[in-house]
Amino acid sequence: MLRKPAAALLRSLASHISGGARATRQPLPPPIVPSILARFLSTPASPSSTPPPSSAAGRDEDGGLPEVSGDAGARLSISVDRSGLYNPPDHSHEPSSDSELVKHLKSIIKFRSGPISVAEYMEEVLTNPQSGFYINRDVFGESGDFITSPEVSQMFGEMIGVWAMCLWEQMGKPAKVNLIELGPGRGTLLADLLRGSAKFIDFTKALNINLVECSPTLQKVQYNTLKCEDEPDGDGKRTVSKLCGAPVCWHASLEQVPSGSPTIVIAHEFYDALPIHQFQKASRGWCEKMVDLAEDSSFRFVLSPQPTASLIYLSKRCKWASSEELDKVEHIEVCPKAMELTEQITDRISADGGGALIIDYGKDGIISDSLQAIRKHKFVDILDDPGSADLSAYVDFASIRHSALEASGDISVHGPITQSQFLGSLGINFRVEALLRNCTEEQAESMRTGYWRLVGDGEAPFWEGPDDQTPIGMGTRYLAMAIVNKKQGTPVPF
Ligand code: SAH
Repeated sequence: MLRKPAAALLRSLASHISGGARATRQPLPPPIVPSILARFLSTPASPSSTPPPSSAAGRDEDGGLPEVSGDAGARLSISVDRSGLYNPPDHSHEPSSDSELVKHLKSIIKFRSGPISVAEYMEEVLTNPQSGFYINRDVFGESGDFITSPEVSQMFGEMIGVWAMCLWEQMGKPAKVNLIELGPGRGTLLADLLRGSAKFIDFTKALNINLVECSPTLQKVQYNTLKCEDEPDGDGKRTVSKLCGAPVCWHASLEQVPSGSPTIVIAHEFYDALPIHQFQKASRGWCEKMVDLAEDSSFRFVLSPQPTASLIYLSKRCKWASSEELDKVEHIEVCPKAMELTEQITDRISADGGGALIIDYGKDGIISDSLQAIRKHKFVDILDDPGSADLSAYVDFASIRHSALEASGDISVHGPITQSQFLGSLGINFRVEALLRNCTEEQAESMRTGYWRLVGDGEAPFWEGPDDQTPIGMGTRYLAMAIVNKKQGTPVPF
C-alpha cells in the first residue's frame, strides 16, 4: 500500500523516470519455477548431502554419534570420532579428475589434518581468487546459473534509483555523494538506476560511483554495462560512466572505498553470498558443522569434535534471540562477515551521513538451515563439484539490525519490509503503466511478466500466458531493510 505522505513525491518521481522500455533488454528470462526462484524455495537441503549409508554405519560401529537428522528435511550424517576419518595419502601419482578448486580444498583439509568450517568452504567455493564460482565467468541469466531481480526487469533498478534520489533529497542534496554498490553482478541495477535518473541532473552530477566487486570478469562486464570510458586525468586516468558522466572506481572490499563524503550504499543479493557458519544441537551442546573428506575422498559433513572459535559468534547471535526462538531450532546459521560488514556500513554512515539499502531473500530472525547450491537453475548437492554452482544462504535481517544498532547510536534501522511493499510504495505501478503506454506488444508482455516476478506473491493470479511459464513472485520472499544516519529522518518508503 502506498503511504499517503510519500505518494505525491513518489508519483512525481516514478512518472519522471527517464526513457521507455529499453530495446537492449535481454530476452525474457526463463520461467521462474525451474530457474532463479528455485533459489528461495523453502527446502534447501538436497538429498545427496547425506553421506553414503555405509560410511554412516561404519561410524556408528566405531563409536561415533549415530546419524542425526536435521530439521526442514535436511538430513546430515554426523561423526565426532576423528579416528574413523579418511586420512589422505601424502603423495598420490594417480591421475586425478579433480578441479583445481577441489584439489585446493582437499589440500587445506589434509594439511590442517582436520575438517574446515562450512564458512571457509563457502568462501573458497565462491571467491577463491583462481577458481571461485564468481571469479572467471558471468553466472547470471538464462545461459548462466541464476537470474536476479535487476535482470528480470529494468523497473527494479529504476525503483532503487527513486529510493536513492529520495534519500539524497533527505540528505540535503549534497553536491558530492559516494554511491557504493556491493556486488553489482553485471551492473544492470546501476545502469537502470542511472538511465532512470538521467533527468535529475543535480543528483547524477553529485555521484561518485564505487563498486565493490571481487570478480575481475564481472568488473569487465560492469565496465561495459555502465558504458565506461577511460579519460586522462592529470598525470593519470579516470574511468567515467557515459550513462551519467560520473566517475567509477572498483574496489575489492568496502574498507577500500574512500570515506569522507555522504554515502548511499546498495547491497542487492550481496549478503546471501557471505560465508555462513552452521551449528547443530547435539547431546553435548551446539557443535559446528564442518566439511571433511570421506574414505572415497569425496567431501562430507561432520560435526566438529571440539568447540570451534566461531562459537563466539553463535553466542553473540543467541543473545539477540528469545528463548522461544532458540527452543524451536536444531540448527543455526551465523554469518560473522555479515555482522562485520554491517558494522563497517554503519560506521561509515554515522561518520559521513547517508544510508544503506539491503535487499535479499531471508528472514527477520534466526536462520536455521538454508544453505543451498544452484547450478544451471537447478538445486544441486552443496558438496558436489564445488566452484561450479552458486552457494547462498538466507539473510538473517535481525542479526543485521542488531549489528547496526550495537555499532552506533547515530543510525536508525528500518524494516525489513517485503520487496512487494517496497517497490509498490516507491511507485512501481505508475512506472509499469507509463512503460505499457509506450511499447511494443512483445515488450509489454515482458514488462507484465517482469512486474509480477518482482512484486508477485506465489503464482500470478491473472497470468494469461502458457501454464508452464506462470511467473512466481519474488515479492514476499525478498525483504528490504534500510540503515540511515538519524539526521536523515525516516527513509522513504519505510
Ligand atoms: N547485485 C547483483 C549480483 C548479485 S550476485 C544482482 O542483483 O544482479 C553477488 C555479487 O557479489 C557478484 O557480483 C559477486 O561477484 C559479488 N561478490 C560475492 N562475494 C563477494 C565478496 N566477498 N567481495 C566482493 N564481491 C563479492
